[in-house]
Amino acid sequence: MNIILFGPPGAGKGTQAAKIVKNFDLYKVSTGSLLREEIENKTDLGNKIKSMMDQGSLIPDNIINDLIIKVLSNKKSYNRLIFDGYPRNLEQAKYLDSQIKKYKQKISCVLSLNVDKESVIKRILGRQTCANCGLIFNKYYHPASNKNHSCDLKFLSKRSDDNKITIMNRFETYLNKTLPIIDFYKEQNLLHQINGMVKIDRIFDEICGIIASLET
Ligand code: AMP
Repeated sequence: MNIILFGPPGAGKGTQAAKIVKNFDLYKVSTGSLLREEIENKTDLGNKIKSMMDQGSLIPDNIINDLIIKVLSNKKSYNRLIFDGYPRNLEQAKYLDSQIKKYKQKISCVLSLNVDKESVIKRILGRQTCANCGLIFNKYYHPASNKNHSCDLKFLSKRSDDNKITIMNRFETYLNKTLPIIDFYKEQNLLHQINGMVKIDRIFDEICGIIASLET
């Protein structure tokens, strides 16, 4: 079972992906996190892509395809992947299709989290990620506390591309390049539309229902 989590930046894909991974024993593939690791480690690739990411532009497909091949060819996570933030355009979706077939795997469903632009902006401006455990919080809607987080608060940080100007670019890129993928998956009967504006746990319950229906 491989799952694609689809939606605009700030839709809650990372938050839901973490819960799905824990509950269903899957491996998360976040192309954004893989790219941020390259930047943090100051690799040649990281230095090349930093300004593109800071502007909110998509990273060229050949770079992303190389990351995906590494993941799909890894036997440990065979057919147990959850994609967060990938594919981001029709070319990537078609490439994923071809490689999934090549590695004898399959996409079981595409979960589309629907959130309006205004909420996306508020969510992104409040987003905080723990550099220690990777959990995602929001200082307005879902603040870190003793109950939901055990690391020191000093580990909470804001992503460098989570600022107002970059958000606008990222949202425009989503509308122009990413949203058209929806039809591609609708035609394959893989698409599930989910209201991403309700409480985190309610969204997760709906996702669990969908995944359970796939397994039977
Ligand atoms: P995310 O963490 O998914 O919000 O992605 C952060 C940034 O990483 C995006 O704004 C893009 O610059 C880049 N990125 C992440 N995933 C992709 C992808 N599949 N294709 C191209 N660029 C990507």
